[in-house]
Amino acid sequence: MKTIIFALDALELTLIDLWRLDEFKQKNFGSYEVVGLEALSTPICFSAILTGKNPSTYGYTLSYLTQNLEQGYPTWLQPLVWVRKRFLRNVKSLGMRRKARTIGLFEAHSRNMTEDQKNLTVLMRLESEGYTVRTDNVPSYDEDAQANFRGRMIHLIGKGFEAREEHVEELLIATRDRWLRNLEVLDSHDLTFIYSPLPDIAHHLVHHEMELMLLERVYRSLIDLPLLFELKDVAVLILSDHGYLHEFDETGKDISAEHSHVGFWSLNVDTEVVPTTIFDFSELIYHLVTT
Ligand SMILES: [Zn+2]
Repeated sequence: MKTIIFALDALELTLIDLWRLDEFKQKNFGSYEVVGLEALSTPICFSAILTGKNPSTYGYTLSYLTQNLEQGYPTWLQPLVWVRKRFLRNVKSLGMRRKARTIGLFEAHSRNMTEDQKNLTVLMRLESEGYTVRTDNVPSYDEDAQANFRGRMIHLIGKGFEAREEHVEELLIATRDRWLRNLEVLDSHDLTFIYSPLPDIAHHLVHHEMELMLLERVYRSLIDLPLLFELKDVAVLILSDHGYLHEFDETGKDISAEHSHVGFWSLNVDTEVVPTTIFDFSELIYHLVTT
């Protein structure tokens, strides 16, 4: 059946429960384990979701992702990158990437899978069987390196609340726009797969217990996306790539911002394939689209 997957980075079940956001819990839902991966890194998690295999078995690794970042420097800066790597290992950061980006040199390169690796995904399998697939910024697959959602967030960590809030609001608007744009062409695709960097980025940008209200607002705004829970004759799979756990000290300061090993899924139709680990989704997606 026609299927839409809405991937919400780090959507956290304990907060859905805490804030009683029952809308997220469609007809079928549950948590699943994110186990056995090299890291709880978003592109690696998505690669596992798409292939049903451990990305380390086909070379989609942290070192592959880092290499691709370094190739983003222009040729004349490459020797400097090498020098830094070779001799300045212990120097944490020379801020090269940041400087290069500031002066417009750093062209963020793709961190997506190679064509061979993409051939392992359920998306390619469906396309080879004649199904039409549309993806929108799915990490590891067709993420637009220029958009670089998560990269921009890193520079805001530790900055004033207003700057962080502004960035989150910007991303909410962008998510809403992309959601609507995909809805407009839903009819012409068998599978639509949309990724939002929210709520993950909002999680990373909450530094104090008092700021949780920003996060709650993000969760509620996502629920309010037009038609999200009202689409007819379409399977809607909401999916996170991992969870996110906050821990606050006695002053309310966030002391252990971390991705967690528990992801969330929810589906508006019945299914025979109930995911229990991150490797079960490629089968679920195949099953939804082909039955
Ligand atoms: Zn993530």
